[in-house]
Amino acid sequence: MYKFGSRSIKRMEGVDQALVDVAVRALEISSNRIDGIDFTIPKYGGLRTAKDQKKLFDRGASRADGVTNKSRHQLGKALDVIAYVDGSASFEDEHLHKVAVCMLQAANELNVKLEWGGHWKTFKDLPHYQIK
Ligand SMILES: [Zn+2]
Repeated sequence: MYKFGSRSIKRMEGVDQALVDVAVRALEISSNRIDGIDFTIPKYGGLRTAKDQKKLFDRGASRADGVTNKSRHQLGKALDVIAYVDGSASFEDEHLHKVAVCMLQAANELNVKLEWGGHWKTFKDLPHYQIK
């Protein structure tokens, strides 16, 4: 049975409860699959301050600068979820797609209107989930 580690739980603090519920349910779904995969929340994957957001923007990791263009992460309405494979975090497409299958199924079950960054046309953001 996969379970979020204490660091991931801490990184979900301040995030909309509906999103946290989806992530927890998704991990349960993953646990029950033969090709299941463990999840983790990356640094800055949950609630972000404007300063955190600016840091990511400067690094080219986000298109939102945190001031004129705010990220949903600054409102607690977004969560990044990545895979945890063989003892380390994985951003590999194959793994992130497995996470997404479980996240979308969980959102469906819990009736949460979830938007996945992997469905975006211009800037695909596979670890990113936000409430519509
Ligand atoms: Zn994100």
